Amino acid sequence: MDCIFCSIADGSIPADKIYEDDNMVVFKDLNPQAPIHLLAIPKAHISSNNEVNSENSFVIGKIFEVIAKIAKEQGFYEDGYRIVNNCGVHGGQTVGHLHYHVLAGRNLQWPPG
Ligand code: AMP
Ligand code: ZN
Repeated sequence: MDCIFCSIADGSIPADKIYEDDNMVVFKDLNPQAPIHLLAIPKAHISSNNEVNSENSFVIGKIFEVIAKIAKEQGFYEDGYRIVNNCGVHGGQTVGHLHYHVLAGRNLQWPPG
């Protein structure tokens, strides 16, 4: 399967990885929208939130746990941050492998466009 985030997960495409374990990877977004912009992904190919089910959802709890740890380690947990999942066309999803954006380091606006 031709999936850029599967290739990052298996190491065949390089990325600036800041965390990796058996189930997930966190790396820096190539086109950052904030001073800190990370992407947290499951290693398993889950194409979007629509494909989350009782078999694969354990990894999502793990992803949120690791994001909390990274926020503490990198010192942005006090100021706060935003975790975003874009799903499908109306959600603005451009890469068809489930990912969570972690945005930090500036005051983010709400609501989104
Ligand atoms: P989304 O629009 O929610 O699907 O987000 C996809 C994100 O992936 C965008 O923020 C891109 O900048 C980012 N991206 C695409 N390719 C790469 C890559 N090879 N390495 C790091 N980030 C990437
Ligand atoms: Zn994939």
